Order: sequence, then structure tokens, then C-alpha cells
Amino acid sequence: MTERLYYADSFLTSFDAVVTDIQEVSRANGLSLWRVELNRSAFYPTSGGQPYDTGRLLATARSGAELSAEIVGVEEDEQDGRVWHHTAKPLVAGTHVRGVVDAARRLDHMQQHSGQHLLSAAFLQICGAPTVSFHLGEASSTIDLTVDMAGRLTDATLQQVEDLANQIIADDRSVTVTVASREQAEAWLAAGELRKLPPRVGNLRIVDIADFDRNACGGTHVRSTGQIGGLYLRGTEKIKQAVRVEFVCGLRAMHAARDDFHTLTDAARKLSIGPKEVPEAILRLQADAKHTARQIRTLSGELVRYRAEELVRQTPLDKGLRCVRLQLTPPDAPDAGHAKLLASKLTAQSERTVALLSWTSDAGGTDAATIIFSRSGDLAFDCGTVLRETLAANGGRGGGSKDMAQGSVSQERLQAAMDSLAGVCSEIS
Ligand SMILES: [Zn+2]
Repeated sequence: MTERLYYADSFLTSFDAVVTDIQEVSRANGLSLWRVELNRSAFYPTSGGQPYDTGRLLATARSGAELSAEIVGVEEDEQDGRVWHHTAKPLVAGTHVRGVVDAARRLDHMQQHSGQHLLSAAFLQICGAPTVSFHLGEASSTIDLTVDMAGRLTDATLQQVEDLANQIIADDRSVTVTVASREQAEAWLAAGELRKLPPRVGNLRIVDIADFDRNACGGTHVRSTGQIGGLYLRGTEKIKQAVRVEFVCGLRAMHAARDDFHTLTDAARKLSIGPKEVPEAILRLQADAKHTARQIRTLSGELVRYRAEELVRQTPLDKGLRCVRLQLTPPDAPDAGHAKLLASKLTAQSERTVALLSWTSDAGGTDAATIIFSRSGDLAFDCGTVLRETLAANGGRGGGSKDMAQGSVSQERLQAAMDSLAGVCSEIS
């Protein structure tokens, strides 16, 4: 069992130890990853929502050469209490090492973890919301509150919680670690003086924030709340069985606030307005866009009507039938709605007329051509049936109503299919 030095001193980042065991974890491309056990360690192993520490183990080889083994992961064996340090360098049992923990990463983790205790206590105090889990992530941290809080966390409540947490930080209250018996912890829990009690047996490590929170926890914590620096709530999200609250503490809070401010000022600059005017400007732009879209719809309807008139004028009757045949190109294609509108205008405005519109598309690697087929009301045949049968004979497919139909065929067969449709129309009309 490894003596865990961080239990007594979370600020200890340098220590001496002896390697007690080494095991190979994995091997790839001739390179091994090892896990090394020490008799004592200040490295925190991933547990209780807090990630592992990184750093290095320094040793002197028999030859006198200095060896530095980078620690890329730390895990604990919950069964036997051993702590394993992952490294690419094999350090044999009996080697004397100096462990050096990455102090910046550790401080960051302490700020987030102590901040979490503070936040969980604030949620409990202000809205009776218990925390069910905690995750300390790369960019931000989250706690999950019970699902019944969904819809009850108003902006005002969240601000109250954030204010209270930051008030306790400004108070610079002491954060102390003690050990209590299971009986003592249960008595505290019954009296409402302990926030949460883990199921494990034996003595418990208790973390106290003076006159604010008491919780059983094995993590690393700051000495006083002032060291948390600040707490910034980033948002809430309803997930499966909980309400997830995202937050950041310490330098992360400052970095997050700075990023948010840059994003906002960048948006404001692009709009040539002040940051506070951004939401109003977005509403205005959305209304403008909606109005413009409506105008475009009206104008393109008009345009289609004029184009239809023009096309009908240019296409004379041939043996009693006017066949308007048109290959559409962007921006008219591949807009099926627009093509159908043009086809219906073409056949609604004149007699004895059929419209045969087509366009090709290479989207998604397909080699497809689309055909829209319509007829004027004075012709008797069924567009859906004619199109289906003609396209089937050309390896394509299609269908529709008696006035209008749509189908598809390969680009290679498009001309043949169109010729044959035009032929069928003049035969049966
Ligand atoms: Zn904790």
C-alpha cells in the first residue's frame, strides 16, 4: 500500500521515495509503457472526479547518469490501495527516486475541486439541490444536480448561487482536512453537519470549509477559500437523469471570462456597434433577413411568370402541341420547388402545352438527372403514368399526379428519356 503524501499536504510537490514494484502495462511498436509503484507518493491518482497529476521521477543510474522519467498517468488500485505511476522509462524495484509533481496542474485541480465543494454547498443552501456527481474536465468542470431541479434553476437562482460562492471565496475562510471515524461521520450526517457520506468503511477524510461546508473527500484542496480565486458559472444543461452545471475556478475563470469577452467584442466590432447592443442587433438582422426572404419569394414568383410567358411565346405549336423543353442550370437548379413552379406556370398560362424541365446533379457522387413533367389542363393524358413508364424503359423511375410528375434517370440516359417523352406526348395528345 502506497503512503499518500497528498493526504496530509496538498501543496507538497517534491518528495523522495523508493520504487517497490514495476509492471509492463502495454507494448506497441517496440515501446513499452510501464507502471511503477513507490513506497510513498505525492502524485494524485485519478479518483473522485479529479484527474491524475503529471510530473517526473528523477533517479541517478549506477553509471552516475541522471534519469528523468515523465509521469503520464497515475491510477490507484481500489482493492489493495496501491498507487501506480505510468511512465515510458523502466525503473526497477529498489531505485531511489525524487518525485516532482507538476505544480501548476495540481494548483489548477485544487482550485476546481475546492471550488466544487463550495458550489455544491451553495446549491444545497440556496435551493436545496444535492450534488450527485462531479467531473473535473480539461477545459471546464461540471457537477450534476438531481433531475427534479430541471426548470427550477432560474437565472436569478444561479446568480445567487454564484454570488454566495464568490462571497465565501472573498471571506478567505480556512479549508482544513481531518480524519473522522465512521461513527462520528454518521452522527454529523444525521445532524445535517456533513454534506455527503461515501459508502466505504473505516476512517474518513473530512474536508471542512469553515462555517460553510463539511464533506468526506480524498481529493487535494486549497488551504483557504481565497486560493480558489473566483468561481464562474458557465451554464446548465438537462441531461438524462440530472441537471448538469458547468463551472470554472481560479485562472480558468479568468481565461473563460476573457474568451467570452473577446467573442462578444469581436461580434460587436463586425457589426460596428457596442457589445451591449449585440443581442438587439441580432434581432434586427433576423427580422431583415426574414423580410428579404419574403421579398425574394414574391419577386421570384413574378419572374417565373414572366419567364413562362417568354418561353411559351418562343415555343410554337408543332402538330397541335407546344412542347417547352428546358435544361435548367444554377441558380434555377437544383431547386425542385422553383422548377415545379415554372412548370406549373408554363402549362397554366397556355393551351395544348407540355413542360419538360430537367437538371443534372453530381452531388454526393451520384450521376443523376431530375425531370419535371407537366401538362396544360386541356390535354387528357396522365403525367404520372407516362413519366413512370417512359423512365422505366430508360432505367429510371418516377411518378406523380395527372397534371405533374417528377422522376430521375442517369445523366447518360437523360437526352434519350427526354426525346422519348416528347415523342409520346405528341403521339397521344
Ligand atoms: Zn471532493
